[in-house]
Amino acid sequence: MDHLLPVQLAELQKIATSLAESRIAPLAAEVDAECRWPAHAMQALAEAGLLGLQVPGELGGLGQGLLGLCVITEAIGRACPSSALCFGMHCVATAVIAAKATEHQREHYLRDIAAGRHITTLALSEQGTGAHFYLPETRLRAEADSFVVDGTKQFVTSGGHADSYVVSTVAAGGEAGDFSCLVVDRDSPGMHWLDAWDGFGMRGNSSRPLRLEQVRVPAQNLLGEPGDQVWYVFEVVAPFFLIAMAGTYLGVAQAALDEAELHLRQRRYSHSGEALLDVEALQVRYGELWTALVKSRALVREAARRGDGAHPEALPFILAAKADAAETAVRLTNEAMTLCGGAAYRANSRVARLLRDARAAHVMTPTTDLLKLWTGRSLLGLPLL
Ligand SMILES: Cc1cc2nc3c(=O)[nH]c(=O)nc-3n(C[C@H](O)[C@H](O)[C@H](O)COP(=O)(O)OP(=O)(O)OC[C@H]3O[C@@H](n4cnc5c(N)ncnc54)[C@H](O)[C@@H]3O)c2cc1C
Repeated sequence: MDHLLPVQLAELQKIATSLAESRIAPLAAEVDAECRWPAHAMQALAEAGLLGLQVPGELGGLGQGLLGLCVITEAIGRACPSSALCFGMHCVATAVIAAKATEHQREHYLRDIAAGRHITTLALSEQGTGAHFYLPETRLRAEADSFVVDGTKQFVTSGGHADSYVVSTVAAGGEAGDFSCLVVDRDSPGMHWLDAWDGFGMRGNSSRPLRLEQVRVPAQNLLGEPGDQVWYVFEVVAPFFLIAMAGTYLGVAQAALDEAELHLRQRRYSHSGEALLDVEALQVRYGELWTALVKSRALVREAARRGDGAHPEALPFILAAKADAAETAVRLTNEAMTLCGGAAYRANSRVARLLRDARAAHVMTPTTDLLKLWTGRSLLGLPLL
């Protein structure tokens, strides 16, 4: 338990860590091997009330912000990165729904999410605009009391398993870059799931393409007012998404460090009786990796605290946090592969799985390249886009 965290959050961290160890970690290898969506993990998180992490207290949720999000995703990511990503996307989509929820959206979605009866997720990316996720090409047409949605999303995490999907579209009658978000319920007529997910890593994600063909969505499922779109991107989608990802990849980095420590402690040579733990060069290397991890965690939590406090300079911290967590995860999993020797180089060893999972961090948008560009631009007072 981390005593530097607020008391309620430290308690939640303890709960998440305990269920990650007892119910999520034991199936992590199967999730990876079978590309199995982690229903058991989402069920365990639902039973612990954690699906309501981002739901306001008055609706039965835990009312946590960005700090809570990075702490809990890290605890899950340390046990099973795919589970953390599915949970993280659920939390981001929940935060998007909660940001300006109408009475209908509060009663229909947020109460069920808090009660652990509803899983949601984000469907933003598209093949046409790729890493530039803020430029959807999916179209929206307003009709009497509904909208009609047409387009194709790529990489929808929890695709086919979630109860609802927060979908971005060009605003009805709007220009490119002028977009809306709405909640599309599962199995709405016209939703077609395309290829099954067979990822290099994050194999439990079910990150699938979704074709929306004349999907009719009730008008009351529009999030916010037309014209709120830019506010959503910068105030909700970006901070929650980046911090959820940063927490997940800190968990991956921590798991790699755990594996390295275990190997250094357990490995002893028969010819000399020397343990790897006694080798000075490896002690130095381990210390360097630990330092990289705690520095990254400190940056991520500082970014989350600034975001929660609406600090005027939160933005560059939040942008840098995910890029740094991505680099830390890739570095630590790579180094763990060296420190753990040939044992780690077996196909699908734990370190091998973590290394594959870590590599998603750089390409999940906003990608590391774009984040570094935007961090510099925001610090120099230039427009991000
Ligand atoms: C495991 C996984 C889960 C995902 N889950 C979701 C999800 O739940 N919901 C969702 O909406 N999306 C999701 N995505 C999609 C993801 O967030 C990205 O949209 C997608 O991976 C990037 O798009 P692309 O593959 O078309 O990359 P491309 O657009 O082809 O980009 C390739 C590379 O070019 C770089 N690049 C592009 N433009 C620039 C530039 N101007 N300057 C510098 N570099 C640039 C990018 O940084 C990137 O590294 C997921 C992706 C993965 C891998």
